[in-house]
Amino acid sequence: MSKPSTLASLVVDAIQSVVGSSAVLHEPRFNGNEWKYLKECLDSTFVSSVGKFVDRFESDLAAYTGAKHVVAVVNGTSALHVALQMAGVKPDDEVLIPALTFVATANAVNYCGAIPHFVDSEERTLGIGPQALREYLQDVTETRNGQCVNKATGRVIRALVPMHTFGHPVDIEGVMAVTRDFHLALVEDAAESLGSTYQGHHMGTFGLVGALSFNGNKIITTGGGGAIITNDPVLAKRAKHLTTTAKIPHGWDYVHDKVGYNYRLPNINAALGCAQLEQLVGILEAKRRLFERYQDSFSKISQVSIMVEPVGCMSNYWLQTLVLDDFSADQKNAVLTATNDAGLMTRPAWMLMHRLEPYLKCPKMELPVAESLEQRLINLPSSDYLL
Ligand SMILES: *Cc1c(COP(=O)(O)O)cnc(C)c1O
Repeated sequence: MSKPSTLASLVVDAIQSVVGSSAVLHEPRFNGNEWKYLKECLDSTFVSSVGKFVDRFESDLAAYTGAKHVVAVVNGTSALHVALQMAGVKPDDEVLIPALTFVATANAVNYCGAIPHFVDSEERTLGIGPQALREYLQDVTETRNGQCVNKATGRVIRALVPMHTFGHPVDIEGVMAVTRDFHLALVEDAAESLGSTYQGHHMGTFGLVGALSFNGNKIITTGGGGAIITNDPVLAKRAKHLTTTAKIPHGWDYVHDKVGYNYRLPNINAALGCAQLEQLVGILEAKRRLFERYQDSFSKISQVSIMVEPVGCMSNYWLQTLVLDDFSADQKNAVLTATNDAGLMTRPAWMLMHRLEPYLKCPKMELPVAESLEQRLINLPSSDYLL
């Protein structure tokens, strides 16, 4: 007698056939020059916010992403915070962000004194759907003095922040058309998408400014870290100034011309970043192989699919994502329980932003797709060394 094949036990078997008997969700590996560069930092005494690895990490990132300018900072959230300021976001503005994102996107808007305004996703990319957003903005906004104004609140909607979910690029061309037509600044939350491209161009380089993250769970890590990327030399200079306490360069005088931030990435973290970035191409290949193995393994289970990169895009496949079909959404918790009980670490997508206590009263469009995805997305073990 065999026990009935519930969806949950089928998923456990399918994951185990790819990764073996147990696996965590995502773990970094330090197989390159990490120790060597860290030792150089310690030997030189340059462990803090000045040093050759900070400059090198910025130029290596610029070369890799194709962005003309990079400012390395202490984490992805601070990168977003300053990126939004660079885009002109001011207190009492509204900023359009996806409801389906990590809380940092909403928090960064809040740090500017602005109000997040939540936008729906589309199933194909998991990110902002430009067509539904366009129709919504046509209804609820009007143009006053060349600015997009929310008719219900009277506030200016200053910027739009698409996020490339789990590494999958949004329909960035559609999003750019919306920002052009509605006079919005485009700031990309590219925290999850280092190594992802849309028609050959790196995510984070389409907008005025983009934010990257190198947190411990991201595709490469500096411990904690982030970067502001932009093609605009003036914005880059302002971002560097603002993230280094707004100090006017001088031999010894402490003159600060605004309220700046101590957001500069320490050299010791940048040293890790340089070594990790050297390994990114191999990491991306391993992630893609893992995706292909999962796709093959899950092709035998009709109620689920593995998230595939959108057409015309290269995803970094940072976190592999299982998508339950509409009729199996009620199995999500059973699948999470069975996989975690079996030693296979899986996680649901984030709780949507408009359900979080600090953001309950924020404006939002109808969110049918995000609300459905919230019930149907499960991240699978995704470390690059699994195969
Ligand atoms: C990780 C992440 C951030 C923030 O990065 P930290 O380095 O953790 O501050 C921002 N947005 C998204 C979508 C992220 O996944």
